[in-house]
Amino acid sequence: MRILLTNDDGIHARGLEALTEAVKDLGEVEVIAPEQEQSAASHSLSLHRPLRVRQHGPGRRSVDGTPADCVYLALHHLLRDARPDLVLSGINHGPNLATDVFYSGTVAAAREAALAGLPAVAFSLVAFKAFDFSHAAAFARRVVQAHQARPLPPGMLLSVNVPQGAPAGATLTSLGRHSYGSDVSEKDDPRGRPYFWIGGTSYGYEKLPGTDVVAVHDERKIAVTPLALDLSHAQGVAALQGWLPG
Ligand code: MN
Repeated sequence: MRILLTNDDGIHARGLEALTEAVKDLGEVEVIAPEQEQSAASHSLSLHRPLRVRQHGPGRRSVDGTPADCVYLALHHLLRDARPDLVLSGINHGPNLATDVFYSGTVAAAREAALAGLPAVAFSLVAFKAFDFSHAAAFARRVVQAHQARPLPPGMLLSVNVPQGAPAGATLTSLGRHSYGSDVSEKDDPRGRPYFWIGGTSYGYEKLPGTDVVAVHDERKIAVTPLALDLSHAQGVAALQGWLPG
């Protein structure tokens, strides 16, 4: 089996190293990851500049682009004659819970593979410092083994969030609801021009049963969320019947 590994924290990230170590003897592993950190890059593609690929030893390459660039280039060019059977992204240095999946480069890399019809799994460690990847890496290994025993369907996209410390098992979840607040800090630079830092720092979540945030934060379980690739909204179509101007 061929496995493509990527991430959004960059080729030198410890989470990617932990993931590589965990699965490298389970198949033919290729690592193609961004040269620089690309967290919150979401699903952007670099269509307006060239991309460079750098070799970092056998089966290990970086791309000076986004996570989605890496997977696109891997599937449609670099590995086109030896397409992977499974794509893994991560292990992200931080959570990708609830609406994080819209911003996440880790999830986007996996989604790019799923859009190309491959099963893909994004792994994220729910921690903000003192990252211990051991439990997440061990679970990633078991996920690959589970796929080998019973293959994930083509195009299946999973987002896995692993709590810090020993987890109390794993569970299938849906996306929850959370917020980091919506902080904007404004200051003046030394030349008197204002600058802005965006990004919230006050975290809260809703206690909705069966959701990823509750599984991870309250139950200390590994949350495995299958993600749909179709964002269209059937209820929206129903709610807007007769609304459209002619
Ligand atoms: Mn990241």
